[in-house]
Amino acid sequence: MIPIIKKSLLNGIYKEIKKYDEIVIARHVGPDPDAICSQIALREAIKLTFPEKKVYAVGASVAKFKKFGNLNHINYNELNNPLLIVLDVPNLYRVDGIEGLKYKNILKIDHHPKEDIVGDVDWTDTEKSSTAQMIAELVLYSKLKFNQKIAENLFLGIVSDSERFSLKNTTYETFETVKELIKQSNIDFTSLYDSLYTRPFSEHKFIAFITNNLVINEHKLGYIKISDQDLKDFNVDVATPANLINGYNFIDELLVWVFITEDIKNDQYKISIRSRGPVINEIAHNYNGGGHKFASGARLKTMEEVDNLIKDLSKACQDYENK
Ligand code: AMP
Repeated sequence: MIPIIKKSLLNGIYKEIKKYDEIVIARHVGPDPDAICSQIALREAIKLTFPEKKVYAVGASVAKFKKFGNLNHINYNELNNPLLIVLDVPNLYRVDGIEGLKYKNILKIDHHPKEDIVGDVDWTDTEKSSTAQMIAELVLYSKLKFNQKIAENLFLGIVSDSERFSLKNTTYETFETVKELIKQSNIDFTSLYDSLYTRPFSEHKFIAFITNNLVINEHKLGYIKISDQDLKDFNVDVATPANLINGYNFIDELLVWVFITEDIKNDQYKISIRSRGPVINEIAHNYNGGGHKFASGARLKTMEEVDNLIKDLSKACQDYENK
């Protein structure tokens, strides 16, 4: 078995974890299966390896992700200079649930382009399919232990963020890592797909609604504005459109597509963008957002900003077609 990541990096991460009695593991707001599964898998791997350590996975709970494991709700005043591990998020303002936490060092593990978080120990690699792939490499190739449940969560995080190994971020290393995970843990991986892909019929009707109402312009930009009432009509939550957007990846008439969802609770529009060609994260950056080259997001306050974003994305499509 050939370690995929540098031995020195692995050792550095393992040593940093080993040093601390208390560890807090955080990830981004509005978590997806990659963020949650990575966080819970890493917490369990550290606890399995070092049973005496206190390890907490923090951030708001999401009801439909409880099946991956529970999060911890703790009083930060009781902690004494813990290590903060930040997973799957490059910007400090998007880290969920660390208000009031006084930490000693940051260990960052992430596959997004670098932003303002710089870990005292930092493993940022945009070539990885998912943060779960990175945690899987860590448990496979370092002294951290893992078990079947940990392997299941890591498998699910990888499958989810690579959209079943179909996105451009999937590499031979992704398969190598998954192969080792399955081989060493003997997980029944085909039965795990249920927990990612089984959904109520109302959600399928919502997919039909998106399909029927997606506006596609002459430059192959698709967009839909989803109101709070639409979410209520289909009994889905504000996070659902982002979970469905990858499903539009193989449509001839689309180069870039964007879902704009009214988020009444936070008085903003939640934007999800995907691309099959033009780089979109630089555009998202101009609109209080960011993300990967071909999968980005943003949060906007006004419909005027939304319309400007649509114009910029349309221009990017036009430029891409004229290249
Ligand atoms: P989503 O469409 O919500 O799945 O997000 C796609 C990608 O964009 C993810 O990698 C997110 O981390 C990133 N992203 C989403 N929203 C924002 C934001 N407001 N700021 C920076 N990055 C974001």
